[in-house]
Amino acid sequence: MNEQYQHKARKRFGQNFLHDAGVIDRILRAIHAKADDRLLEIGPGQGALTEGILNSGGQLDVVELDKDLIPILNRQFAGMSNFTLHQGDALKFDFKSLNAAPRTLRVVGNLPYNISTPLIFHLLKNADLIRDMHFMLQKEVVQRMAAGPGGGDWGRLSIMVQYHCRVEHLFNVGPGAFNPPPKVDSAIVRLVPHEVLPHPAKDHRMLERVVREAFNQRRKTLRNTLKALLSNAEIEAAGVDGSKRPEQLDLAAFVRLADKLSEQPVEAPAAD
Ligand code: SAM
Repeated sequence: MNEQYQHKARKRFGQNFLHDAGVIDRILRAIHAKADDRLLEIGPGQGALTEGILNSGGQLDVVELDKDLIPILNRQFAGMSNFTLHQGDALKFDFKSLNAAPRTLRVVGNLPYNISTPLIFHLLKNADLIRDMHFMLQKEVVQRMAAGPGGGDWGRLSIMVQYHCRVEHLFNVGPGAFNPPPKVDSAIVRLVPHEVLPHPAKDHRMLERVVREAFNQRRKTLRNTLKALLSNAEIEAAGVDGSKRPEQLDLAAFVRLADKLSEQPVEAPAAD
């Protein structure tokens, strides 16, 4: 029996393997890898996407956590000179170790849903290296990434991803395309890091802080949720109406609030 079919999918590694040739082809066409591309695949699994990417001739590094999949991947692809395998956790992977030139790296992956959000935040810390990213994610997560202000999907994920990237919800994929089928619908998203940030914050950490605090209680007004960080006068001075709720604010307004927070003097450490 083919050893691919002997591998038992592991839930703890978020293993739902793609088996629908039509869907695989559609994803590969969306990625459109070329011979001079530098690519990184997260979680290649049994190689459903890997093969097509390698056939483009592009240089592909893959990071796979499950040790049992390593011999399966090596047997299929180790003979190809454009293939490099790293066994380990993508959340701890040092993307700089790939020595990719700025804005060249093309990241792809049918991601394990349990780590998709932290992984994307980890990648965004290296956004300057990345040309684009194509991911299969839970459909709801893609909807939140691509959302605009004013609705229930607009939140921390939309703002932090859109701060760095243009987001395109490409197409949806039903559970039947996977083995075993997941309980949720999936979607393919394309993230393209901005060459120049449209709304740069003075201090990115302040943006993270203001956004996290604001959406902790998304039903409350900003003057209420942000009162530990900014006074109502400071909120108004940033050109934001403190009686609004966080989901009514666009990215530019959050950046103005973050910049207001950056203006505050850093508290001196308490004297002994
Ligand atoms: N790309 C394959 C496909 O489309 O059929 C597999 C996709 S499966 C949803 C997710 C893959 O990510 C699995 O192979 C799993 O072992 C791997 N994985 C899970 N957690 C990981 C991590 N932290 N770092 C790297 N790979 C991981």
